[in-house]
Amino acid sequence: MREPTNQPPAPARPAEGDQPGGADEAVAALERIEAELDEVDAALDRLDDGTYGRCRVCDAPLSDAELAERPAASTCAAHEVAAGP
Ligand SMILES: [Zn+2]
Repeated sequence: MREPTNQPPAPARPAEGDQPGGADEAVAALERIEAELDEVDAALDRLDDGTYGRCRVCDAPLSDAELAERPAASTCAAHEVAAGP
């Protein structure tokens, strides 16, 4: 006989509408998505002019692992933080 593990109920998503802060979260998510879109756009541009896959700070080629993790990355791991938006 197998007994299912007794899981606590998953936290319900707050109802839309009367949650202060819900809109802020949505705006933050939207801004994150727009930033990602910008990165992808920039990556496509770099693909066009042949600089895709290179760090724009030190010009080092990005590793396959880095590109697999962040296909739109424009900097190597060392410059990822320093480069900023
Ligand atoms: Zn670099």
